[in-house]
Amino acid sequence: MGDCIFCKIVAGEIPSQKVFENEKMLVFEDINPKAPTHLLVIPKKHFENLSDAASDPALLGEMVAQSSAVAASRGIKEFRLVANNGREAGQVVFHLHFHILGGRRMTWPPG
Ligand code: AMP
Repeated sequence: MGDCIFCKIVAGEIPSQKVFENEKMLVFEDINPKAPTHLLVIPKKHFENLSDAASDPALLGEMVAQSSAVAASRGIKEFRLVANNGREAGQVVFHLHFHILGGRRMTWPPG
């Protein structure tokens, strides 16, 4: 946790382009966007990934609801919400985050 880049963003030690913040979570722009809108929704408390955070379903529910609200606030009604859960699933940063991807047509299945 000491070296966690997203914990450092929460602490303000690393800059981020914040879009939304409350006492439990932070939403900011992805530094390497994969779509015209690419935001990350993270809990302020450190959880390694979605499986780790399953112990707090209320928080997960709030994060999902807030993801929709933030997208709507940007005029985006159709978007993809992604959590890469573990290395094999493509997770690179081991602090739970949902990707909000929107503003272009998505393909399926993802790679
Ligand atoms: P994942 O592969 O699901 O772990 O995604 C990690 C995401 O974090 C990637 O989309 C990165 O571009 C993004 N990312 C890494 N470092 C930063 C940072 N300092 N600020 C914003 N986004 C970041």
